[in-house]
Amino acid sequence: MDYGHQLEFGTFITPVNAPPQVAVARAQLSERLGYDLVTFQDHPYQPAFLDTWTLLTWVAAQTERIRIAGNVLNVPMRPAPVLARAAASLDLLSGGRFEMGLGAGGFWDAMEAMGVPRRTPGESVGQLAEAIDVIRRLWDTDAKGTLRFEGDYYRLRGAKRGPRPAHHIPIAVGGYKPRMLRLVGAKADGWLPSLSYLKPGDLAAGNEIIDAAARDAGRDPREIRRLLNVSGDPGRPAEQWVEQLLPLVLSDGVGTIILGSDDPGEMQRFAEEVAPALRAAVARERASGGVAAGPVRAAAALAKRREDIDYDGLPESLAAVAIEPGDFGYAGVRSTYLRGGAPGLVLQPRDAEQVAGALAFARDQDVPLALRSGGHGISGRSTNDGGIVIDLSRMNRIEVLDEAHRLVRVEAGARWTDVASALAAHGWALSSGDYGGVGVGGLATAGGIGWLVREHGLTIDHLRGASVVLADGTRVSCSETEHPDLFWAVRGAGANFGIVTAFDFVVDEVGDVGFGQFVYDATDAAGLLQRWGSAMEAAPRDVTTNLILGPPRRGQALAQVYGVVDSSIPDVIIDRLQPIADVAPLLDQQVQLVPYAGVMNVPDAPHDGRGEPVARSGLIEHLTPEFSTAAADLIRSGAVYFFQVRSVGGAVADVPADATAYPHRSANFSVVAFGSSKERLDAAWAELAPYFSGLYLSFETDQRPERVAEAWPEKTLDRLRTLKRRYDPDNVFRDNFNIDPAAP
Ligand SMILES: Cc1cc2nc3c(=O)[nH]c(=O)nc-3n(C[C@H](O)[C@H](O)[C@H](O)COP(=O)(O)OP(=O)(O)OC[C@H]3O[C@@H](n4cnc5c(N)ncnc54)[C@H](O)[C@@H]3O)c2cc1C
Repeated sequence: MDYGHQLEFGTFITPVNAPPQVAVARAQLSERLGYDLVTFQDHPYQPAFLDTWTLLTWVAAQTERIRIAGNVLNVPMRPAPVLARAAASLDLLSGGRFEMGLGAGGFWDAMEAMGVPRRTPGESVGQLAEAIDVIRRLWDTDAKGTLRFEGDYYRLRGAKRGPRPAHHIPIAVGGYKPRMLRLVGAKADGWLPSLSYLKPGDLAAGNEIIDAAARDAGRDPREIRRLLNVSGDPGRPAEQWVEQLLPLVLSDGVGTIILGSDDPGEMQRFAEEVAPALRAAVARERASGGVAAGPVRAAAALAKRREDIDYDGLPESLAAVAIEPGDFGYAGVRSTYLRGGAPGLVLQPRDAEQVAGALAFARDQDVPLALRSGGHGISGRSTNDGGIVIDLSRMNRIEVLDEAHRLVRVEAGARWTDVASALAAHGWALSSGDYGGVGVGGLATAGGIGWLVREHGLTIDHLRGASVVLADGTRVSCSETEHPDLFWAVRGAGANFGIVTAFDFVVDEVGDVGFGQFVYDATDAAGLLQRWGSAMEAAPRDVTTNLILGPPRRGQALAQVYGVVDSSIPDVIIDRLQPIADVAPLLDQQVQLVPYAGVMNVPDAPHDGRGEPVARSGLIEHLTPEFSTAAADLIRSGAVYFFQVRSVGGAVADVPADATAYPHRSANFSVVAFGSSKERLDAAWAELAPYFSGLYLSFETDQRPERVAEAWPEKTLDRLRTLKRRYDPDNVFRDNFNIDPAAP
């Protein structure tokens, strides 16, 4: 039977140690010749050979493309839990190029001489089966808790999982006897015998056992790749090879042919003559026989598909960038930085055309649609349960369009830390946020309150143009001259109007900056708030600082202020920060002169949805005594664990309120409180609400419609609704703070 696997070719190289570089050179030659895979036998009791694991790592470091495997690794001699970590590490180091070939050993005298307990054939299979389970479970960092495993051969008492490999490492098993073949069918990703050990008919008979075992285990037999080692035969003409190998592919389902040869000439002839001729012959036969070649999705993965999504209807170009719940990469994309999710499909387009395709597909499915760029959204709308996520993280290019005018194009999936690093090379910076892990797409469509905001304004104030995929799939550019009304809406309400794929910003000249960090005694939290607020309003625009308060810890109330002074002159920095340092009794202080990109270079934690915060936010003009007292009461109430006030003001107020869809230009501060109970936080926040004059939605999680009215005053909202009716009449982009086109 032809299982339709894409034909692959590998080499099988003897790991001789004299001289030691020969095996490495053969591996490099394999790569140059275009082989897919280079493999080495593993005989850890054989001093004439280099240790295979060590050799694999060395080869991985000296090659760039080719995949690497043991053919096959000796399980009784290589402790499975250690092998799991070693394999995952090598996979990570090599950029996902490791593949696992496992065997039950066999040269028992030599193995026993090395102190390995002799096993019966049945025991060997049992150990191999357990080894596969242990290895896969240690790789599964998505599973909860540590690994406990009570087997006959392995006992793990709470082993930590990980590292997680870079890709799904396929496990192929070498073996011939029915018990081993049943194991292959039940658990492995590949069967790897050597042709020289087989009689005519053995492959077909072996396949039959494997396929039956696969079906018994609820698997599709096509999930299991059939690999085959074939011994070299230097003088053999290519036609004879093709004549021998073609039926092995078409009738015995062999998908990977591994040439056992250390002869460079033969390796070259096989790669240049046999492989292309066999590929062409197989393609011809498959075309006439109607066999569709390609990867097969595992039955276990198919079972995780959501009913409402037509996965098979995905166009081919999107299928290549799709991640489904059963896929290896799913754990890394299901959740966002702060929110857990379980989408039915994540699409990671590589360009605007694919974004439009992804959107068209999503619109046909009638499931929730989420947009994601950096995954740092606080309200949680960039993931969902059972819906589709269009994730732009792979569209992250940063390009200078016009050096003289400091015009820069940034794709939506870039992170602000990368933007800062790219701009630093030119002595430039763009005020964005206070955390480098945040994505461009979410922040630059909402506002962007960053470390340089008082001097240089909001991120959206630097926007000169944007490329947008509209709800109907049209791709448009908008600016002051093209679709100016859309350009107006994108700057503050972007998520309601389309998928912004790229932003054109004019950036500023910024070099090293002063970065100050202060810790205060916050016993008088109200006084501290008020004094810091006054100091910030009085400060020159080149100073931007943020204040953080929380409930007392071990009886001590503390406050922290972090901030940037856009100057590289130490005296200026000290001069600017002194009034800030004086707002309360100082317990600790640090001021550094650092590149702006250094301030933004905060390592991003994995996006596993930790936290799930409840957040309320508001914009306010002055931190009056009344507000400060109410805020101190809120902090004392225990309803919040994090209370932050950010500076806005300065250059933000230079832009007229109706110039963009971010209208609250007169606010000097943005306030946010995080709590763990929505009810408690809402009740406590109600005391503070009267002091606010607006809302910056990026820090809000409350989904009630009132919040939309706080973010956009009636006049702005009217204009947004009119535009929403034009650009998104079906309300495709609704899964955010929604401007309802149907509202009167
Ligand atoms: C640790 C942390 C620090 C932060 N610091 C700041 C700060 O200093 N200043 C500040 O202003 N904000 C800050 N934020 C808030 C942040 O700006 C928003 O959460 C923003 O939405 C995150 O952008 P993202 O691309 O990472 O978000 P994502 O989670 O990817 O997206 C969030 C939402 O933005 C919309 N969106 C995303 N991409 C696009 C796109 N390409 N086109 C249209 N709409 C899109 C979608 O509605 C989506 O649900 C911070 C957030 C966190 C978690």
